[in-house]
Amino acid sequence: MQRQYDFNKELRELEEDKVFDECGVVGVYAPGKPDIARSVYYGLHSLQHRGQESAGIASNKGGKIQYYKEMGLVQEVFNDEIIERLQGDISIGHVRYSTCGESHAVNAMPLVVYHKGGSLALAHNGNLVNAMLLREEMQDRGVIFQTSIDSEIIAALIARYIRDNSIEDSIVKTLEQVKGAYALVITSGDKLIGVRDPNGIRPLCIGKTREGYILSSESCIFPLLGATFLRDVEPGEMIIIEDGELKSIRFQKGQKKAICAFEYVYLARPDSDMDGKSVYMARSQAGRILAKEHPVEADMVIAVPDSGTVAAIGYAEASGIPFGEGLIKNRYVGRTFIQPDQRMRELSVRLKLNVLKDSVKGKRIIMVDDSIVRGTTSGKIVTMLKDAGAKEVHVRVSSPPVTHSCHFGIDTPNSDKLVASRHTVEEIRQMIGADSLGYLSIEGLLEAIGIGKEKICVACFNGNYPMPLPDEIAKDKCMTEEREDY
Ligand code: AMP
Repeated sequence: MQRQYDFNKELRELEEDKVFDECGVVGVYAPGKPDIARSVYYGLHSLQHRGQESAGIASNKGGKIQYYKEMGLVQEVFNDEIIERLQGDISIGHVRYSTCGESHAVNAMPLVVYHKGGSLALAHNGNLVNAMLLREEMQDRGVIFQTSIDSEIIAALIARYIRDNSIEDSIVKTLEQVKGAYALVITSGDKLIGVRDPNGIRPLCIGKTREGYILSSESCIFPLLGATFLRDVEPGEMIIIEDGELKSIRFQKGQKKAICAFEYVYLARPDSDMDGKSVYMARSQAGRILAKEHPVEADMVIAVPDSGTVAAIGYAEASGIPFGEGLIKNRYVGRTFIQPDQRMRELSVRLKLNVLKDSVKGKRIIMVDDSIVRGTTSGKIVTMLKDAGAKEVHVRVSSPPVTHSCHFGIDTPNSDKLVASRHTVEEIRQMIGADSLGYLSIEGLLEAIGIGKEKICVACFNGNYPMPLPDEIAKDKCMTEEREDY
């Protein structure tokens, strides 16, 4: 049975809680190539880790846009018949995971809007921090919104400016008003456009194919689509692909780069390169530095799969302690199956992971994971390992304690639910029942990423947000502003 979408309920929830979306975007420009939507479909498949709740594709044929979007995984949403209907020379796609408010296809992307000069489709990864304010101002002026997502504000503003401006100028005027994180892929007329916010918080890169170009949140999709990595879109840069040519406009200059550290820690796939650094190498290096910062005598290093695997191997290599398998993951348990409430979250650990008893029994184990957010996962796994006979369990985390909520597109809860915002490392160790607990330092993480300390956003670890936060967001401040014990 179709669930009813309660728009007002969702807006109320949005006001009470913060909005966070993890998303992946892709755009393919290939005039004359048949089946372009299929390329986007495959691209979205490779970006599925960035969002498992909804998926959508919009194809542009001579300025006319057709689209399809639904709740579900990419392969659940699309079939051959739908893909064949989405004919065009330019096609964009989106995968989304949101834990805010009600999940419903009305909030899925791409968004398609009809403006005076035609239509446009837009896919957005990131979060705006002034969305509430802009929405209210626009509603006061009579603008009607059909969704509760901040991306609709961007689409509505572009559509308003396009009456008197080119699409490029309309986007620039829009971006002068919005604040926050955005990697956008847009198609309108005969153009494919990519935009990255002035701080470069969310990633976006360009691939080159024989027929044209690809824009993507991550470079891991390029080999599958027969593309070679050209470069990252620069912070504050707009890429316009038109008549087979790629043009670039710098719409805002001089902002401090603030590339999201959590992409390297958790969100991105290890086979992607981001802003000049391989995600795999960053994770491996993080594990190596973690081994130096928090050594411990043990018999075996195990990973919490898959998020901790690369760092665990790095830890094992640097410490000389053998890497082994201690946990087996059920890969078919997706987020769509696990409802985001605490009871299900607790059960979900057992649904996802099982202990290899014969591997861990009687051993001193170092268990490496990429992050501790609420603290639920680590505690459950430590208990499972001890129940299986592990003699000691030493938890090592390849990122610093997450003390502050992300307002720019990473799914971290409000700070009162972040275990490290309320508790010391020793308290967390006791809570999760580990024999010892060691987190990577912020300096260690920055060294592991290695693209320049000043270019990385580590706000979730220290509260230094890349831009001032409006009051309604800032009220979700960290409980413990200054921490000494990490
Ligand atoms: P917890 O501490 O129980 O909230 O969960 C931490 C676990 O969730 C770690 O294994 C992480 O790999 C994983 N994790 C970290 N960040 C996220 C995120 N944004 N979305 C989903 N899982 C995450």
